Amino acid sequence: MKALDEARAEVLSVMPKLPVAKVRLTESLGRVTAEDAVVREALPPFDNSAMDGYAVMASDVEATPVELSVNEDVAAGSVPTKRVEQGTATRIMTGAPMPLGADTVVKVEDTESTDPERVTIRKTSVSGQNVRPVGCDMARGDIIVEKGVRLTSRHLASLASAGVDPVVSAMPRVAIMSTGDEIVDPSTESLAWGTIRDSNRVLLRSLLADLGVPVVDLGIIGDDPEALRTAYAEAASSADVVISTGGVSMGDYDYVKQILGELGSVDFWKVAMQPGKPFAFGSIHGVPLFGLPGNPVSTFVSFEQFVRPALLHMMGALKLLRTRVNGTIGEDVDTNEAKTVFLRVLLAHDTDGSFVAVQSGGQGSAMHSSLAKADAFAVVPAGTGSLSAGDDVTLEMFRWPEGRSIDE
Ligand code: AMP
Ligand code: MG
Repeated sequence: MKALDEARAEVLSVMPKLPVAKVRLTESLGRVTAEDAVVREALPPFDNSAMDGYAVMASDVEATPVELSVNEDVAAGSVPTKRVEQGTATRIMTGAPMPLGADTVVKVEDTESTDPERVTIRKTSVSGQNVRPVGCDMARGDIIVEKGVRLTSRHLASLASAGVDPVVSAMPRVAIMSTGDEIVDPSTESLAWGTIRDSNRVLLRSLLADLGVPVVDLGIIGDDPEALRTAYAEAASSADVVISTGGVSMGDYDYVKQILGELGSVDFWKVAMQPGKPFAFGSIHGVPLFGLPGNPVSTFVSFEQFVRPALLHMMGALKLLRTRVNGTIGEDVDTNEAKTVFLRVLLAHDTDGSFVAVQSGGQGSAMHSSLAKADAFAVVPAGTGSLSAGDDVTLEMFRWPEGRSIDE
């Protein structure tokens, strides 16, 4: 058996890197930066007002109230034409450029004006107050987003403000298929005896959609050597990565192993983790192949532990693994001491705000019910064996718990 970390390192070491290119900002969400994105000009590009109010000289408003004459109005998008001199003010809107001579803005709430040409300043304002100086957000040459980061909505906003199109990695195209004679389409109304609906493919599709990765869906392939041969060949010719589920354990009718052996160089691994011990990895026609075990929970765990990090690595991402946090386990649990066990858990908050994890249902690797409800894996390292209620446990967050209801 291979230890999980070693197996993952072996996978990552052979994943090819994808080409990189500058893309339009609007096409970059979820892609990984291949270069630091650098600011070309200071932001904001000019000193501007942070408030609706009056731009004045701080020295004029040291003692208040004081009456000043208003020299002009400047809205956002227009520019001042007059200098603020002693005894004068410019009526200014949020985002409008500061007039020369003024060094502070008194917000409109702290003023009174009945005559458009005059204003009474009621509160003092020190130099720099309510002014956003040029470059206070970003200076020319600052790095907005570093290389190796998966772009979020917030990164895109920063890049937009700086007018920068990022250089990002291409996305891997991923071919998926479910294998097995017993597997039928999920839309099947009444199941023939001995058949089950395909849940792995929609699981994989959705996990890949979360990564923003394009999918080539080859459907369900029966346990038939010819059909498998054709499907794997088509997958390898149309994608950068192939994922199939089923047929990699010990069964007699599993032709997957035989076909993968013929088409490429694929190893059949036993990884010291639960679920997800059997796992095929290698390449067919030079394209990386992941042969995931058929049980849906095993498929999910194997995807999380191997496929997701591998795809992110291909894209040049630096953070390949999910966030882990500390919590406590809320109940006694016995686990297999020989393996790293991934328990599906639900998270609640303890009185001090820390996470308490309880199993989200039965932990069998074919059980969808506990998978659907889970927020995280409680990771029980090999060599641990059992946990008692109140023990510390590492939580691997594959999602954050669904928000809060309005009255919480
Ligand atoms: P296998 O890895 O082919 O030996 O399959 C292991 C178990 O997973 C069997 O009970 C299969 O029926 C089940 N299984 C395989 N593929 C799927 C699938 N696509 N959706 C749901 N269950 C599956
Ligand atoms: Mg099978």
